[in-house]
Amino acid sequence: QSHPISAPKLSRHAAIQRLLSTLAVLEQRDGQLNMSSLASISAAQKLGGSIHGFVAGASIKQVAEQAAKVEGLEKVIYVDNAAYDKGLPENYAQLLVENIKKGGYTHVLAGHSAFGKNLMPRAAALMDVSQISDITGIESEDTFVRPIYAGNAILTVQSEDSPKMITVRGTAFAAGAAEGGSAGVEEGVDPKAECSTEWVSENLAKSDRPDLATAEKVVSGGRGLKSKEEFDRLIPPLADALGAAIGASRAAVDSGFADNSLQVGQTGKNVAPQLYLCAGISGAIQHLAGMKDSKVIAAINKDADAPIFQVADVGLVGDLFEKVPEMTEKVKGA
Ligand code: FAD
Repeated sequence: QSHPISAPKLSRHAAIQRLLSTLAVLEQRDGQLNMSSLASISAAQKLGGSIHGFVAGASIKQVAEQAAKVEGLEKVIYVDNAAYDKGLPENYAQLLVENIKKGGYTHVLAGHSAFGKNLMPRAAALMDVSQISDITGIESEDTFVRPIYAGNAILTVQSEDSPKMITVRGTAFAAGAAEGGSAGVEEGVDPKAECSTEWVSENLAKSDRPDLATAEKVVSGGRGLKSKEEFDRLIPPLADALGAAIGASRAAVDSGFADNSLQVGQTGKNVAPQLYLCAGISGAIQHLAGMKDSKVIAAINKDADAPIFQVADVGLVGDLFEKVPEMTEKVKGA
């Protein structure tokens, strides 16, 4: 039976929508907009009201113009200053706060990435409000859903703070279309804040494979691989045959089989690909916390009672040293 929404309720909703205005903090690296931060725009669209994007860094106007094409944005605010290029939170937080105050936003959203997690608590503290972390759902303009205890419980948080400073779990909100929008581009305020920290250098793992956090398919290996040599012999060929990114359990990372940047789970990356195929991973809750939202989970494990089979859509009980090469050959031949 359907319950018609009463007229006063509808108009209250419409009135709230008109008052909402969100600032979506966009990430950039070397003049390229980070597409995974677009999930903040999708989340802002769920809230309703007007949405502005915010970006800062060196020669940033072209990034702002790129962002202006993203669907859903009304305006992109940019601050062109090399001092903000590396996203150091010490000065970026003050920069963000000045721009929040100027725009009078009701909500500020950023991705729950290293950048967002570093920046938003500081900016929230400067605004004297509580931060709401890692949301996976929006119930209304003041009520949000977020996982706690590595995803074992779901918390619904209501906040009276203004503005509401929120980080968004990228895998929970599909990134909006990068083309099709026609937002205005406008210069923001630059407080030219002092920065006590100096950015020296970074050492990034380079890979031609898809990015783990945003890949459509992920092949992950665990301690069951036994050694780095076996991990390298078995996992990359299957990943390449499928066009997948490589992931790993923490036990595999701690044992030196795989790079730290490949760790999936509570203390690693959150992934939600179309296919998550794992071999030699038991399925500890801390691992599940990072991958259980994957659309199809396939697992290979020699132990039929391994907890991974409780979340797997497809399970293969067997020796991975036989099954993984066999599967790689079959995928290559397909
Ligand atoms: P194991 O649990 O040792 O499982 C190995 C599996 O391989 C077994 O199920 C075994 O049956 C199978 N196997 C062995 N040989 C074969 C074979 N020949 N063929 C097929 N199968 C085989 N873990 C994460 O992954 N990510 C995290 O982010 C993370 N964060 C953590 C945070 C905290 C605070 C803590 C306390 C723990 C965290 N952990 C995390 C660790 C987690 O608890 C587990 O220890 C870890 O996930 C286990 O990794 P694994 O499944 O590879 O190894």
